[in-house]
Amino acid sequence: MSFTTRFAPSPTGPLHLGHAYSAILAHDMARARDGRFLLRIEDIDRSRARPEWEAQIYDDLAWLGLRWETPVMRQSDRLPTYQTALDDLLERGLLYSCSCSRADIAAAASAPQEGAPLLGPDGVVYPGTCRDKRPHIKGDPRPDNAPLRLNMTKALRLTEHSDSSTLPVTFEEACLPSKRGIVEVSSAEILHSVGDIVLARRDMGTSYHLSVVLDDAAQGITDVVRGADLFEATVIHVLLQELLGLPTPAYHHHALIRDDKGKRLAKRDDARAISLYRAQGATPADIRGLIGL
Ligand code: GLU
Repeated sequence: MSFTTRFAPSPTGPLHLGHAYSAILAHDMARARDGRFLLRIEDIDRSRARPEWEAQIYDDLAWLGLRWETPVMRQSDRLPTYQTALDDLLERGLLYSCSCSRADIAAAASAPQEGAPLLGPDGVVYPGTCRDKRPHIKGDPRPDNAPLRLNMTKALRLTEHSDSSTLPVTFEEACLPSKRGIVEVSSAEILHSVGDIVLARRDMGTSYHLSVVLDDAAQGITDVVRGADLFEATVIHVLLQELLGLPTPAYHHHALIRDDKGKRLAKRDDARAISLYRAQGATPADIRGLIGL
């Protein structure tokens, strides 16, 4: 299969230098390998996604000289696919509904017997308050659209191979210097540092983790190129691929572009927005220069 990668921005603010780095890196890798560069608009968070940000994404990327295949995949068009995967997990008894608020979770996680609250890819690792409720069944009411969590203990039991030498999560990290090579994560580590993650967020019917895994498979992605801040999330993604019978791509987690104080750029860092550099007369070559590409 030819090298296929993607850039997957969320249209919730302006693209900044960090996005430009990710997009150009992925694009150039695809071109150098005679492969494919795809785009995906990650707009499941309807409360934050805006059409004008989406339009600006296309404009900025084209200005940077990037070309991508069309049609562009848009997550908001794929809600039925996410629901089918959730139904599959529900039928296997792997999800439970969770009525805990953020404050409940913070309080339970910092109870004296729990030790210091542990931070996982999605913030505080869920302390398991609702885990012993019976699994949610398809068609069960979800009062207040309560989130659905993955029962990680059960999920790991399903992904453990009879040949116990194979760990539930194994993937190739092709970029991050401290992790380069085959990364293997044990069940014990996943239980401890990831825990019961949310797969259907309140009012959303899906989550970043579930959508990204289904979309990468649907787009035939062989190589995911993205920032090192998502390295921990990759453990979740590979586990979901295993659970849902999807292929695992190779991962290239690249270094993050930081501001002068060493902080990584966030969406609100409008000072580093590509559109602002453009308005100030920068050329695409200047942007490449600024990010060292
Ligand atoms: N939509 C995510 C973001 O903008 C990127 C997800 C990914 O590359 O897997 O941070």
